[in-house]
Amino acid sequence: MSHPPYRSLGPTSSVPPDPYLVAWAELKKHRIRRWIAFFVWAPLAGFVFSASEKLVGHPLGRGEFFAVSLPFVVAAVLFLVRASNFRCPQCGNRFEAQRMVSYPLTRRCLNCGIRIGTPKNTVASDAP
Ligand SMILES: [Zn+2]
Repeated sequence: MSHPPYRSLGPTSSVPPDPYLVAWAELKKHRIRRWIAFFVWAPLAGFVFSASEKLVGHPLGRGEFFAVSLPFVVAAVLFLVRASNFRCPQCGNRFEAQRMVSYPLTRRCLNCGIRIGTPKNTVASDAP
């Protein structure tokens, strides 16, 4: 009675999801958002710039262009920061960064070496 069946979503409902797999899914989500922000922003800014010339009748001034594009820049930076601040589920350090070095395309944690997609109970050994 006091426990609504929130988790009855399948045969594995009694097993909680692997926390590492949940984390990897999170990282994937952050990365996709980051690439979208990265690749969409520039064409979008170009579009806004050229469309405004037709809409307003004159090219945007620097200040106007800044004001229009600021929300997109902020969103893009937020996505970038969130993705790069992703914490490795195994060692708790930043997954894509070690000290001052950052490598956003890495498939392994730069600090402990665990690969993306490794479940928690698979002990990361030195075997390839
Ligand atoms: Zn790690």
